[in-house]
Amino acid sequence: MGLEDLVYLSLRLLLACLSSLSAIVTFTYAWQCDAGGARRRIAAAGGVLLTVGAVLSVSDAIVNAFILRNEPIPAVSWVWLFAFDLLLPLWAFLLVGAWRQRDRAEAELARLAVTDLLTGLLNRRGFFEHATGAIAQARRARLPVAVAMFDIDRFKLINDGYGHDAGDAVLRQVAAALSADQRAGDVLGRFGGEEFVLLTPGSDASQAAITVERLRAAVRSAVLHPAGETASVTMSAGIATLPDQGEIVSSINTALIAADTGLYEAKRAGRDRAVIAAGNPEPLAISNA
Ligand code: GH3
Ligand code: MG
Ligand code: MG
Repeated sequence: MGLEDLVYLSLRLLLACLSSLSAIVTFTYAWQCDAGGARRRIAAAGGVLLTVGAVLSVSDAIVNAFILRNEPIPAVSWVWLFAFDLLLPLWAFLLVGAWRQRDRAEAELARLAVTDLLTGLLNRRGFFEHATGAIAQARRARLPVAVAMFDIDRFKLINDGYGHDAGDAVLRQVAAALSADQRAGDVLGRFGGEEFVLLTPGSDASQAAITVERLRAAVRSAVLHPAGETASVTMSAGIATLPDQGEIVSSINTALIAADTGLYEAKRAGRDRAVIAAGNPEPLAISNA
């Protein structure tokens, strides 16, 4: 085997490894990718092309080194070697790298679109997105679903007395206390201001009321009032159940309106309590005052 054949054989085998590696990378991307069909199809087709390239590379190297060993390597083979075996895999690595980066950026944007930036809880949009799936699942299992709307009592006094930053710190602590006690399957969100909403699939109004009391107690004991230990942060809540039939988003809205009337009643009755909205089965007021 002449020196040229040896160099050609080595380069082709080396670049065949590169092609195989890039084929694995593109196939893996096509397998994992959930960003729509086009990128997945291009990656899968690229993987096939690179695999074919690697096989052709090895067979061409063997033919040139062992069968046509007395003939010089044609110029077109060298062009092919650099154009296909080197540039194509490198391009595939770069493309898949860029796609992965874009997928991460898109996932982060999608996460931010449903997240309340102050507390890290779901925002209104995120709440509706998660609630829709949870309600559909509960309805299939013929389970009741309740919703509770929480509102911090006299929050304006905290803002006015200790500043907006102190108010923000209280909001973050309330969110942490609510989510620390959150049951798997429940959906918790912040609806702006100092209002939080909890959806509890599998609970009727009175079961939800027990959860609400537990959460209110958790907030009262875990959240530090800016005035110190002599004061505590309390919440009022309204509770309602969802209609067990009908379009899901309008069912949530109906229940939220009902829960809001319960919340209004709780405020009117002196705050620091939860009220099950009138019209729900077993209407009752739970007082903690
Ligand atoms: P009530 O017991 O009747 O609920 O009285 P309240 O003072 O809590 O209710 P109100 O709705 O009058 O006050 C809510 C305040 O929440 C007013 C607004 O300035 C404040 N607020 C809304 N969003 C934020 C926020 O992101 N950060 C802070 N620090 N305050 C906020
Ligand atoms: Mg309030
Ligand atoms: Mg409010």
